[in-house]
Amino acid sequence: MNLAFFDAKPYDKPSFDAFAAENGITIKYFETKLNEDTAELAHGFDAVCVFVNDTVNAAVIDRLCELGVRAVALRCAGFNNVDMKHAFGRIHVLRVPAYSPYAVAEHAMALLLTSIRRIHKAFIRTRDYNFSLAGMTGFDLHGKTVGVIGTGRIGRVFMDICRGFGMKILAYDKYPVPGLDNGDTIRYVELDELFANSDILSLHCPLTEDTYHIINEETLASCKRGVVVINTSRGALVDAEALLAAIKSRKVGAACLDVYEEESDFFFEDYSGHILDDDTLARLISMPNVIVTSHQAFLTEEALTNIAATTIRNLLELFETGECPNELCHRGGDTQDCKTGKCFG
Ligand code: NAD
Repeated sequence: MNLAFFDAKPYDKPSFDAFAAENGITIKYFETKLNEDTAELAHGFDAVCVFVNDTVNAAVIDRLCELGVRAVALRCAGFNNVDMKHAFGRIHVLRVPAYSPYAVAEHAMALLLTSIRRIHKAFIRTRDYNFSLAGMTGFDLHGKTVGVIGTGRIGRVFMDICRGFGMKILAYDKYPVPGLDNGDTIRYVELDELFANSDILSLHCPLTEDTYHIINEETLASCKRGVVVINTSRGALVDAEALLAAIKSRKVGAACLDVYEEESDFFFEDYSGHILDDDTLARLISMPNVIVTSHQAFLTEEALTNIAATTIRNLLELFETGECPNELCHRGGDTQDCKTGKCFG
């Protein structure tokens, strides 16, 4: 099997090379992202492997089909960059539903602690032998309330971590997990109650039509003054302009962003030495109470190994049996993992 691997980074190769070699798969790595202009590169390949910022829209899907490509293997969980309605019945779409919820949840907590204990400031100060504590006052997490939107794999690990800190959790999910609400330290509530009573908000839901800009001018206005916003999920869950305005007005006390609405133009690339064209991103980064990481929450050795192993297994299963449980289906407006093994059925 031949695999065209788009948006390849040096850290992708060791784990993918190892699993591909074991299973007789040939991989050609392309540094470029997949989009309408680069789809041509997939000529002669059985499948393409893509990541979060590759574009798999209707035009790309049509071109891949014309080129004889049979599958799009996402090496990630989220699939908001794939036109699933258009893909259904035309090309197989596989994903890695879980690779390390710990990687992302632990990164969310790392961002939170860095931000509220001013570790990013301290690191720079002490390197310059500046041992002043002025402006470094933080706050205890113990006893604070965190609003967790999305109580799936990552959200639940994040909740466990928060409970270790003695925090209370207000949770919201479109599909609440039975038995998770203990009526005390974890309570499922409606979104308005969550926004009104949380000291910290952490987003762990997928990007869908329902969740697009779930953090916006109106919801931010309903939050506590000084609320800390953490987004390690998908950029467009947050209206970045509204967030910036709320930071300027001091409504938002801090923001921890591993993802950004327009990240595909910048994230994963080195733009040092360039003038950043995105004023909103530049202004956010300039804020002392904003921490931006460039979609690195997933980036642990464990996650990379699991991503490569599952992606290769997905492709082998599909090509050998015609079925793969990690195939995404789009039926009746809802996208879900394949339950039938007959996604083209
Ligand atoms: P998951 O599918 O296990 O959990 C998602 C949860 O969101 C589910 O419980 C689901 O019911 C809930 N949900 C769906 N629609 C909702 C809505 N409208 N409102 C509230 N909740 C809703 O997924 P996961 O593995 O926990 O991943 C969560 C998200 O994290 C992914 O969708 C992805 O966008 C993001 N992610 C980011 C990184 C990173 O590196 N930053 C890595 C992996 C995943």
